Amino acid sequence: MARFTDPACKRCRREQLKLFLKGSRCFSSKCPIDRQALPPGMHGARRGKTSEYGLRLREKQRLKFFYGVLERQFRRYFELATRQANTGEALLSILERRLDNVVHRLGFAPNRKGARQLVAHGHVMVNGRKCDVPSVLVKPNDIIKVKMAVRSLALTRLHLQAVGGEPVPDFLERTNSEDPEGRMLRLPGRGDVDPRISEIREQLIIEIATR
Ligand code: SF4
Repeated sequence: MARFTDPACKRCRREQLKLFLKGSRCFSSKCPIDRQALPPGMHGARRGKTSEYGLRLREKQRLKFFYGVLERQFRRYFELATRQANTGEALLSILERRLDNVVHRLGFAPNRKGARQLVAHGHVMVNGRKCDVPSVLVKPNDIIKVKMAVRSLALTRLHLQAVGGEPVPDFLERTNSEDPEGRMLRLPGRGDVDPRISEIREQLIIEIATR
């Protein structure tokens, strides 16, 4: 399973944007973005004017990094999205429907990377069956449940305690916090996108992806 191997904070520094790729560090004073770190590379800050192409590329990279998706998979999602009337909204909806994202947004894992690991290690069940593929797209009425095994439950409960009563997004429902379980109520729309990336300009991404 291909994955990002470079340092997570470096990706945020490249984008000069908090992408929340780590756990508690992202909310602490150790976050390099909060400390106004320069972009990576020699003379990181010394950059010329960004070209029109560069602007669109950075927007696409931000979205990919935020959801932990590599280029090939992103292309596949884009292809799927172009079949819908509103490509931009469909693309964001597909990314929100990824199983690792749903597990994270239900509060079962501190970030998408942790959620991906939880899924890949077989701790999550979809409609009563083990599912260890983080890229699976969750459908409305699918039940997402953490396996009834001591280790699986301990990992999830630990994080659920940490997030406390934080609400889940409208398109999801967390039915039981003791035995972590959730359900997708409907397909996510533009307004359901994670608020931390909701400023993304999907039109710029469409423009570069259709080149
Ligand atoms: Fe690192 Fe998180 Fe800050 Fe990004 S938001 S730079 S991953 S600590």
